[in-house]
Amino acid sequence: MENPTALVIGAGMGGIATAARLARHGYRVTVVEKGERAGGRCDRLIKDGHHFDTGPTLFLMPELYAQTFTDLDERLEDHLDLRRIDPTYQVYFDDGLTLALTSDLSAMQTQLEAIETGSFGGFLRYLDEGHRHYKLALPNLVQRKGADPAGAFPGYDYDVVNEEILLTRLEVAAKYL
Ligand SMILES: Cc1cc2nc3c(=O)[nH]c(=O)nc-3n(C[C@H](O)[C@H](O)[C@H](O)COP(=O)(O)OP(=O)(O)OC[C@H]3O[C@@H](n4cnc5c(N)ncnc54)[C@H](O)[C@@H]3O)c2cc1C
Repeated sequence: MENPTALVIGAGMGGIATAARLARHGYRVTVVEKGERAGGRCDRLIKDGHHFDTGPTLFLMPELYAQTFTDLDERLEDHLDLRRIDPTYQVYFDDGLTLALTSDLSAMQTQLEAIETGSFGGFLRYLDEGHRHYKLALPNLVQRKGADPAGAFPGYDYDVVNEEILLTRLEVAAKYL
C-alpha cells in the first residue's frame, strides 16, 4: 500500500515541525511556502550592516524544540550549537537610564534597587507568577491536542480571550511596579 500523503501550507517553525513529524510517521509530505525561503517569521533583515530579527529573538520554550527532535529520534544538541547570550538585551530610556536584562539575579538586584528601592522584590514576585503561568499554559494551551484553540476556554470567544490574555499580562506586570 502506498504511503499516505500530506500537504503542509507554510514553512514556518510550525509547518516544518509538523511536516517532519508526518514524514517520520510515513507520510509523503509536500510543504508549500509563499515566501522566498523557509522560516516564516523566524527571519532576519540586514540593512546597512544592521541586523533586524523579523520575529523571534529569544529561544523560548526550549523543551518544545527538544521534544520535536526527540520525536524524530534526533538530539537537539547534535543539530544546534546553542550559546547563552547574557545580558539578553539592553534597554535605553530617554533620560539616559539603561537596564541590562540578565539572568544574573544579583546584577538585576543592583540595577533595579538603584532605580527604585524595594523594586527587586516585586521583580521576583513577577518572575514567580510568570513561572506559574508558564507551567499552567504549556500543557493546557500550547501542547493541547486539537485544532481549535478556543476549546481551551469553553464558552469564550477566542479573540476576546486573546485580548484578555494580553491585558492580563500587562496588568500582571503593572501590579509589581
Ligand atoms: C515581532 C515578533 C517577535 C517575536 N519574538 C519571539 C521570541 O523572542 N521568541 C519566540 O519563541 N517567539 C517569538 N515570536 C513568535 C514566533 O515568531 C512565532 O510563534 C513563530 O515564528 C510562529 O511560527 P509559525 O510556523 O506558526 O508561523 P509563521 O512563522 O508565521 O510561518 C507561517 C508560514 O506560512 C507561510 N504562508 C502563510 N500563508 C501561506 C499560503 N497561503 N501559502 C503558502 N505559504 C503560506 C508564511 O509565508 C510563513 O512562512 C515573535 C513574533 C513576532 C512577530
